[in-house]
Amino acid sequence: MKFIKQALRNFKGYKPPLNDRIDSIRLDFNENTDENPLLRDISLFSLNLSIYPSYDTAYSVLSKYLNVSADKLLLTNGIDDALRLIIDSVVEIGDKVVIPSPTYTMYKFYCELNQANIIEVEFNDEIPQIELDTILKDNIKILFICSPNNPTGQVFNRNSIEYLLKRNPGTLFILDEAYVEFTNNTLIDFAEKYDNVLVLRTFSKAYGMAGIRLGYIIGNEFLISFLRNISSPYSVNSVAIYAMQLVLKKRASIDQFVKLIKKNRGLLTKYLQNRGFEVFPSEANFILVNFNILNNYIVRGLSGKNILIRDRSSYRKGCSRITIGSIEQIDLLIASIDELLDKETIIFDMDGVIIDVNKSHRLAIKKTVKQITGKETTDEEINRLKQISGFNNDWKLTQELVKSHIYLSFRTKKLNNFILSGINIS
Ligand code: PMP
Repeated sequence: MKFIKQALRNFKGYKPPLNDRIDSIRLDFNENTDENPLLRDISLFSLNLSIYPSYDTAYSVLSKYLNVSADKLLLTNGIDDALRLIIDSVVEIGDKVVIPSPTYTMYKFYCELNQANIIEVEFNDEIPQIELDTILKDNIKILFICSPNNPTGQVFNRNSIEYLLKRNPGTLFILDEAYVEFTNNTLIDFAEKYDNVLVLRTFSKAYGMAGIRLGYIIGNEFLISFLRNISSPYSVNSVAIYAMQLVLKKRASIDQFVKLIKKNRGLLTKYLQNRGFEVFPSEANFILVNFNILNNYIVRGLSGKNILIRDRSSYRKGCSRITIGSIEQIDLLIASIDELLDKETIIFDMDGVIIDVNKSHRLAIKKTVKQITGKETTDEEINRLKQISGFNNDWKLTQELVKSHIYLSFRTKKLNNFILSGINIS
């Protein structure tokens, strides 16, 4: 501890659940869920890895691809690296920054590391233009906007952003376009038009290069040249720039992939809506779905079937984010959700449960006792216990019946875990 900055001693860190995913269907981190076939044949030996990387060709390829001059571009080790570079060099202790809610986690993470004063503003269907304009007048250093937004998938209104940009030249607008390939709406031209804008892009998503780590910043020459000066000279590796040149050559292949993802996004959305779940309109390679009280059950149930989706209930109650994969993956996902939902489920009348169990609470008690002990319960046994004070609660009553049936002291904890883990008892 003695070497650590005072302010960082209690910093919690961020540990995404990235272990043991390789053999699963990965619909949890918005990566390309298959392999990008263009990367299959890269031979490490042909890249001359003993030499430090040199970037001139890479910049010229990227510059041509984007039609943006190379002195307005900075390659980074992914967007996360770009965020760290920018925030480290812009934010002083106590500076005010505005972060929409909900949005990508790492804005807050790097701002907290720099002891910024973080103002979170709820963005629902749209940017709260008037409210934000007032807030930005109060000496705000950075406003973050992620469009399409993670985890909602929504694209924000271009005119609102431009309105705020023009009226607040003292605020740096960081426009994160990690998912831009999946929408027709880009804000890239703002980076050329206004000198208080940095646009961030990545090869981690549509291009299937999350493991190679490559992103870039687009901005005016002054800001870019400053960021270049303070960045580590070799933070972007030779494999990444080689891979970039390979994938940018075959634009048609990415276009085809994006078309497929959009089609599958439509299919999955329709299915979930038909099942009665709310799906937020998305222009990204993922959707946010409101599974409501079934959220935990579905996330765990799918995980048991080796399909990973991301529980986002801490961002929006009852919601999970699902990355759009291949048609085979979507079919499997749909079949698995069907299987989970079509199971017979028994539901207890516990405080906070929204389902009307008026006509089935006795059945729930009997089935649970049968499942655990193998024994039948009669109405008389239930009636007898209901006369005793404390057993009006079906949950306690069931535990008592289980106890009396197996003549053992039953561990409530075990039964609780059994039910709460979302296992159906049919
Ligand atoms: N921005 C957003 C909105 C993201 O969702 C992610 C990845 N989850 C990133 C940035 C990070 O991208 P990279 O892999 O380029 O660091």
